[in-house]
Amino acid sequence: MSVPTCSRERDVWEAISHGRWPSLADDDLRAHVDACAVCRDVVVVAAPLVADRAVASAEADPPSSAIVWWRAQARARQEAARAASQPITIVHALAIACGAGLLAAGATVWLRGWSGSIGTFMAAVNAIIVAVSTLDTRWTMLLIAVAAWMLLAPIAAYLALRED
Ligand SMILES: [Zn+2]
Repeated sequence: MSVPTCSRERDVWEAISHGRWPSLADDDLRAHVDACAVCRDVVVVAAPLVADRAVASAEADPPSSAIVWWRAQARARQEAARAASQPITIVHALAIACGAGLLAAGATVWLRGWSGSIGTFMAAVNAIIVAVSTLDTRWTMLLIAVAAWMLLAPIAAYLALRED
């Protein structure tokens, strides 16, 4: 069983989608739709959809170009601020991890007695040096940056606070 078709179906669909249906459509086409079951179905299905679309686009009320521009600027500023703060966060996290590691190592050495664990401590330092030397340049540079930051940050903080 095939779906019935009509040669004027397309005309009906065009009249509806261009907003000409029913008042601006040809009398001829209206008479055809009254007589043709296929075209009546097209009207029943398509007319409400097209009417909904017209109502929706009338209600959409897009924001003015000034508001769109302002929002774009605000978003760009937010993204720039987030991008700028990200490396600082990573360096802070690494510095805290390094500090915690050094503190733990120091506490271990202090608890066990310096002479007893100096060998263990030196082995750990040696392991770190070996690990650093196997890292690629980027990570080495990052570690150097972290170490420099750990040394310079207290000095920078001192200078900044002294000027206030
Ligand atoms: Zn028809």
